[in-house]
Amino acid sequence: MWSFHVFVLFGTQKHRTLNYYNFHNHTNLPKPDSENPSPDLTPPLGPSAMHRFAGLSPGAVVEEVAASLGCGVTAAAVAEFLDEQDELRCLRGQFLLPKVADLPPSDLSLVDGEEDCVYMVGNSLGLQPRNTQRYLQEELDKWAKTGVHGHTEGSRPWAWAENNIEELMANIVGAEEEEVALMNGLTVNLHLLMLSFYQPTTERHKILLEDKAFPSDHYAAESQVVLRGFDPQQSLLLLKPRQGEDTLRTEDILSVLEEEGDSVAVVMLSGVQYYTGQLFDIPAITAAGHRKGCLVGFDLAHAAGNVELRLHDWGVDFACWCSYKYINSGAGGLAAAFIHQKHKHSIKPALMGWWGHRLETRFSMSNEMDLQPGVNGFRLSNQPILLVCPLQASLEVFNMTNMQALRSKSVLLTGYLEYLIQHYYSPDRDQDQDQDPDPDRPPRPHVRILTPRDPKQRGCQLSLCFSVPIKRVFQELERRGVACDMREPSVLRVAPVPLYNSFTDVHRFIQRLEAALSAAADQ
Ligand SMILES: *Cc1c(COP(=O)(O)O)cnc(C)c1O
Repeated sequence: MWSFHVFVLFGTQKHRTLNYYNFHNHTNLPKPDSENPSPDLTPPLGPSAMHRFAGLSPGAVVEEVAASLGCGVTAAAVAEFLDEQDELRCLRGQFLLPKVADLPPSDLSLVDGEEDCVYMVGNSLGLQPRNTQRYLQEELDKWAKTGVHGHTEGSRPWAWAENNIEELMANIVGAEEEEVALMNGLTVNLHLLMLSFYQPTTERHKILLEDKAFPSDHYAAESQVVLRGFDPQQSLLLLKPRQGEDTLRTEDILSVLEEEGDSVAVVMLSGVQYYTGQLFDIPAITAAGHRKGCLVGFDLAHAAGNVELRLHDWGVDFACWCSYKYINSGAGGLAAAFIHQKHKHSIKPALMGWWGHRLETRFSMSNEMDLQPGVNGFRLSNQPILLVCPLQASLEVFNMTNMQALRSKSVLLTGYLEYLIQHYYSPDRDQDQDQDPDPDRPPRPHVRILTPRDPKQRGCQLSLCFSVPIKRVFQELERRGVACDMREPSVLRVAPVPLYNSFTDVHRFIQRLEAALSAAADQ
């Protein structure tokens, strides 16, 4: 058996501790076999190598590592050292990384087409898990050879295949297995949940959501209000950041709840904000909503598989999320819904289908609904096995580790990205470093990070706002084999995903950003 160590960051921004976390107990890490190339497990420098970094912030770790290696903080050697220390690095081999040459915008005169691309866009579409194709092929073969018998035969009987992986999904969000159902798409699930949880009255009719919620969530909330005969102008209570600020302050969310909670039927926020990358304080918001008698739900599209969640312990009433972002199930993959156990017998689906019927008697076709309790009663249709396969492949990779270990790596990985961006592009940099600026040279571009600086208030994504037009920079990055994501007017979303991105990926990203910025300036 192997033993594994990973460095873990604990605590608040004021008191961060870099500790060595030993996880002998979940050595589900990939076993070499004929299907999977054997993971690279050359022993790292040993636990003692990281011990001296205890108590340091990510930036301080970078500086310590550079000092101990006798190189500059921007050297590739720092990234290589951190990769050697990263006990999760072998998980990258569980995914298929596109080659630079295969990305349509790549310009092979600028970058080697044989290299792996710099994939920083797992917040939008996760990479394909290596076992996806095999699992799909198994089900296609079963269909070809046995037809209808596939419903009940094989390792993945179609009639309940999703049930076999719901526990893995529940682990990712800190839920009990019976609290989670895999079904439909995210927006569909949001509607199904709101149909039951949003029960407006004349006194309590509002939905509290972000002013700049993801469009689909906004439309869902708006149409639910209209469906109940209320006016969106009156019934959508929108949270805006303070003047001049990019993100919402928890204290402001809580005070809106304190002041207006009596008129709020449902709080419906995201877990991690898609545009800014802000992680909301889910337990505090849930508790504040409950104190005022509101039901509290979250759209976890950007939180599930990205940050640690404890949906059950926090008492969140309901939640939904898609699985194609951080959970790597492929475009349009099977989505998830959560309903807390406390509502198991009180909340009923507004719309029913045969898949909500108890499995034991589902096929007796009596037309007398024997509804499964809780979220399971919300199922409508039989699940698409072709969507179950890629999701299973991904959830099995998550099950080789856990969210705590992934999050520990994530804090350092994103902290490293943040550190390098600050180093090169902080607005104060010119005064500090360019003693004798060339008056003919255009000023260096600046980058402002919209995402909160406190690691506890963000996931892996950083949203970068540039002092130069973003479109050109984005195109130049794409030509250099970088996959990231631009949101008009000026934001670049960059997400180093701890499951498959390395510290070297972050380093390569920064190098290419530097090249892209000079190319864009030369236009
Ligand atoms: C990605 C995302 C969606 C997408 O909804 P689909 O129904 O999966 O198309 C909706 N809401 C949020 C917050 C998202 O991040």
